[in-house]
Amino acid sequence: MRQPSLRKHIAAATFLVLLAACNATAQSLWDLAKQNRDALRISTLMTAQDVRDRLSSDKGIDEAIDWCKKTGVTHVFIESFRDGYTADKQALLHAKARFAEAGFEVSGCITPTKVGKDSTGWTHIACFTDVPTQKRTQEIFEYTAAIFDEIMIDDFWFTDCECDQCQKARGDRSWVDYRCDLMTRLSRERILGPARAVNPKVKVIIKYPQWYDSFHARGYEVVQETADFDRIWVGTETRDPDNSRWGKKPQYEAYYIMRWLGGIGGAKCGGGWFDPFGTHEDTYVEQARQTVMAEAREMFLFCYGALLNDTGPANVEKLRTEIPSLFQLAKLVRGQPLKGIAAPKPPNSDGLNEQYVYDFVGMLGLPLIPTAEVRTDVKAAFLPVHATKDPQLGDKLKTMLAARTPVLVTDGLAKRLPAPLASDESLLVLKVNGKPSSLLDLTREQLKPIRDKLLAPLDIRFDAPSRVALYLFGDHCLAIENFNNETIHVSLGIPIAQFTKLKQSLVLPVNGSVAAFVHEFGQFELTMTPRTLVVFEY
Ligand SMILES: [Zn+2]
Repeated sequence: MRQPSLRKHIAAATFLVLLAACNATAQSLWDLAKQNRDALRISTLMTAQDVRDRLSSDKGIDEAIDWCKKTGVTHVFIESFRDGYTADKQALLHAKARFAEAGFEVSGCITPTKVGKDSTGWTHIACFTDVPTQKRTQEIFEYTAAIFDEIMIDDFWFTDCECDQCQKARGDRSWVDYRCDLMTRLSRERILGPARAVNPKVKVIIKYPQWYDSFHARGYEVVQETADFDRIWVGTETRDPDNSRWGKKPQYEAYYIMRWLGGIGGAKCGGGWFDPFGTHEDTYVEQARQTVMAEAREMFLFCYGALLNDTGPANVEKLRTEIPSLFQLAKLVRGQPLKGIAAPKPPNSDGLNEQYVYDFVGMLGLPLIPTAEVRTDVKAAFLPVHATKDPQLGDKLKTMLAARTPVLVTDGLAKRLPAPLASDESLLVLKVNGKPSSLLDLTREQLKPIRDKLLAPLDIRFDAPSRVALYLFGDHCLAIENFNNETIHVSLGIPIAQFTKLKQSLVLPVNGSVAAFVHEFGQFELTMTPRTLVVFEY
């Protein structure tokens, strides 16, 4: 049954959205960013080296202010320490005053690399068991707290050192226990206490890296540290998914971690942070879109100096075209309860050979609800081996299956379940084979029965190839993102009662397009251009 009037309605909506985006671009991004600061702030970092090389003259500061304004940046972090280098106090104070005069919010930042004694592991990382290194850390925070009321810690506040001193200090504890205890204690004794003694107003932000499945192994204890610090920040730097240097991260990882830590941090969660390394224009802006869709209140562009080089300028140019729509996107998702398939990762849980499997499952058109807790009052669930961290897992799973809740488990978890549970008919097994990235090769035909079963309780039908993500925001808004380099055809079914209300609210990139045709009542066929995000309200 065709409904040409609805098709026309959708086409008209697209046209209006495009028109709105053009108007917004004509208005300066600086003015637009100031107006939208409550919905989404954009920030950047001037590293300690940028302070030395680019902000030590008024001409350099003028150029930085101009770049920020053209990029919609209204909040700058000015860094005092990185890689063993301490920025000059007068230069920091002068830059801080100039940015503040120009209408920016200004905060500080510290990157605890090359602080003192080197770790036996990653270069630039310190051995924080070493007391002189601890004292040096404290001095850096005291120095910075005297200048700034807010200090971000870049994501090197961990250790992987296994030197004799560390071996001796841990005794017969595991590395996980030793490092989590050490970093939690040093956060209190060497950072928070001393910084607050110097400046009682100071707020300290711990920025977590994007490698969430290894946090505890290197001493990031997300529950305790989130409780102790004033604010948290989230690494959403996924980069090009086929770039082996940076770990082959799927784009959905930025969304998963931002939502997961957003849930753990609540009001303390400030925003998401991504960079241009190992990206090109398409993947750079995908980081921004994932960060904003995951309800970050701020997106942080690391960093001014890096964005002036290599792929940075082209990335920023493309990002600027998307910023007006990103403000709109932030407003659409803000405060909407997430709908979908509960995908719990208990804090400090081990992924074993299924590390980051959530990120790949999210690329399969399964709308996940990233969460820290395995709950039974959910519409559908996805559980990998991480869930075994929950001592009540067996009982919880039994409760869900008794309620006929569809549950997708990985083959790794299925192997660990008692036989009666593993053979329950509400249980679906996803064959990961210890290689989460292989999930991206699942065909549309293989994915269909999994989606049909898990989405049924949500009253949504979805059929698409792999590398297409679906997001459900509340009961009246959804997004679809095509991460493929090809045009795709997608089938979408929404509740019948809302069928005639469907309207296209937003499409990115600005030259992307999504055509919707009514296939039958309640079901649409969409044609989406490559690397395109569409948001519908209904
Ligand atoms: Zn050591």
